[in-house]
Amino acid sequence: MSDPIDRDNIRPSFWSHMSLEKLTNSEWEALCDGCGKCCLNKLEDEDTGEVALTRVACKLLDDSTCRCSAYDIRHRFVPECIVLTPATITDHMYWLPQTCAYRLVHEGKPLFDWHPLISGTAQSVHDAGVSVQDMTVSEANTPDDDWETHIIEEPL
Ligand code: SF4
Ligand code: SF4
Repeated sequence: MSDPIDRDNIRPSFWSHMSLEKLTNSEWEALCDGCGKCCLNKLEDEDTGEVALTRVACKLLDDSTCRCSAYDIRHRFVPECIVLTPATITDHMYWLPQTCAYRLVHEGKPLFDWHPLISGTAQSVHDAGVSVQDMTVSEANTPDDDWETHIIEEPL
């Protein structure tokens, strides 16, 4: 599978010794592992704040590639899509996937061997079973009332 993320214009091993604030735009984009887990809808318990992951994906997620089908213009269709930045990541840590590369770098942890920056191929994310490939249903076809029946454990 071809990798739409440009991982060429980056400093060697930047993820292992740079904080998120120090990354260039290219490095920031290259840090995404393409797992697609952040594009799954979550259910939040109003009383406990507990967050449950569902396999109900954003209507723009391509289930086979785990990519946003309209990334550059996504806010036209999904205005609420979150733009993660070094300044906002702390606010989003409560729901970010456990393996999300932004979470890992923010926490000072190493990336997994299957991360494309280490493996050299985007396919390794799917081979490792940590992406949402072929496991989602679209929110476009799934009534809100049914989301609870689609709660899943994060693929790790
Ligand atoms: S969870 Fe993190 S690493 Fe995975 S696709 Fe979303 S932003 Fe990228
Ligand atoms: S708009 Fe694109 S990036 Fe945002 S949640 Fe949907 S699929 Fe993911």
